[in-house]
Amino acid sequence: MSVVFRLESPYRGEYQLHRLTFGAGDPVVSVVAGIHGNEVNGVYALNLVAGVLRMQPPRGTVHLLPCVNVFGAEAAQKRWPFDDRDLNEAFPGDPEGSPVQRVAAAVVEATAGAVGIDVQTGSATVHEVPHARMPEAGLAHDLGRAAGLPVTWARPAERLADGLVGAWHRRGQPALALRGGRGGALDLEEARVLARALVRVLGEVGVLTRTEPAAPGVVTTEVHDHRTTVGGFFVPELRPGDRVRAGQLLGTVRAPLGGTGLEEIVSGAAGVVLAVRVYPVVHARELVVRVATQP
Ligand SMILES: [Zn+2]
Repeated sequence: MSVVFRLESPYRGEYQLHRLTFGAGDPVVSVVAGIHGNEVNGVYALNLVAGVLRMQPPRGTVHLLPCVNVFGAEAAQKRWPFDDRDLNEAFPGDPEGSPVQRVAAAVVEATAGAVGIDVQTGSATVHEVPHARMPEAGLAHDLGRAAGLPVTWARPAERLADGLVGAWHRRGQPALALRGGRGGALDLEEARVLARALVRVLGEVGVLTRTEPAAPGVVTTEVHDHRTTVGGFFVPELRPGDRVRAGQLLGTVRAPLGGTGLEEIVSGAAGVVLAVRVYPVVHARELVVRVATQP
């Protein structure tokens, strides 16, 4: 383990960006988690992958950055605690900029020239099924499919322009995101699913021995967002990963006091539930269910 960047911190130990490196030479893969401090599924998934890499040295190099926003992780916070900035919005960063910009620049530097994989979760209020987000073609696309997750979401390049994945993409590095779970909660099964997906991707790149391909999930380019028209208490009728038909009831918005039904949320398409709002108190126009369509 090496410290690839440090930042002085006035009242506590300095910030350190840790990188675990396995193997040497080409190809190079960098896997990053914990850009959002409370997204612990990714942090744990990378630790599981570290265990695999200790047993099976890679043919090539694998860099793991298991927890970028360690101060956020300690405080159970998504954002950088001192100035409440979103690290993911600071990319590509600036070595002379604000603390989050300097951390972001250090992450880009520490992962230069590699295939880049960013592991995140949904927010603290939205639970996502483990899935891959990647471009519609190219190496990153093939790697996203090889991940073998329940949903594989191919997106136009301009929809992948944000955050670390966008910064990698603009530097010409193949880049994809693996996501699953929600902020603020460790789900062991989801973390294991993400870890197995990462091992499959490393097999596809050729740094590890290829493992058995997973049962193919839904590969989609289209996701239907379902939003409320009224505020209230949202009661979901399904879980992330469930299959739904068009017209199926996804959940109801109920009156927060008394529980009267206010609105039924009905699926606009057949597919697999990508994300479900799990914190029930919602305002009007809030996203409550995402369905990845089955082409
Ligand atoms: Zn995140």
